[in-house]
Amino acid sequence: MRIGVLGTGMVGQTIAGRLSELGDDVMVGTRDPDATLRREEPDAMGNPPFRAWQEQHPEVKLGTFAEAAAHSEALVNATAGGASIDALGQAGAANLAGKLLLDVANALDFSHGMPPSLLVANTDSLGEQIQRAFPDARVVKALNTMTAAVMVHPDAVAGGDHHVFVCGNDPGAKAQATELLTRFGWRNITDLGDITAARATEMVLPIWLRLMGALQTPMFNFKVVT
Ligand code: NAP
Repeated sequence: MRIGVLGTGMVGQTIAGRLSELGDDVMVGTRDPDATLRREEPDAMGNPPFRAWQEQHPEVKLGTFAEAAAHSEALVNATAGGASIDALGQAGAANLAGKLLLDVANALDFSHGMPPSLLVANTDSLGEQIQRAFPDARVVKALNTMTAAVMVHPDAVAGGDHHVFVCGNDPGAKAQATELLTRFGWRNITDLGDITAARATEMVLPIWLRLMGALQTPMFNFKVVT
């Protein structure tokens, strides 16, 4: 399948690499491909620049957000949450129309230091903002409640016995997202309903961030027991 992964950070790299390993035809989207490839400095978390990753994944294409979206049959939004609406606007509403848009972004506000707060909460969410801004895209929120490595290799934590949540307005898109998650290795996929459930999964972030501090590792996830 042709998949566009919008975002060159750790999440974009991790998802693009895994999809490519699973046989998909992947193009990563960025604002300016030349500038992205010219970057020498590590990112804010100390990860190596994008070019170093791409050298290890020469089969993954790099294009503008619009080129990656036009290339694809399905899309992943792995852009910084506060910039996602802008980035998707650059991708172009027409290039998103009718396609699964798997939104893994969190709208985190780092402007007041650590831990970050949420730019949107309670009565709205980034997932809903994206669905409203791009009504013809088929938005499914998922995977935003864990670190990138766990998103694509759930078995890296507790043998994979923990949960991922999906929500969105389009049942067909949720089925497509569920199939993709199953290919990543997910066994426990909980459908929380329509896209308003993104309020809940995005508001998991404050506890996730505190847990990372307490556990001193991002390699954990939530398991729901009844
Ligand atoms: P990130 O640093 O949050 O985002 C990088 C991407 O955002 C880049 O592609 C960048 O574009 C784009 N971007 C930044 N500012 C922009 C602007 N003003 N306009 C348009 N695009 C802009 O990378 P990340 O850590 O990989 O996270 C990606 C998303 O996943 C975030 O929303 C994050 O909250 C969420 N998330 C992250 C993790 C994790 O493990 N890191 C876990 C769960 C969810 P360029 O390519 O042009 O630089």
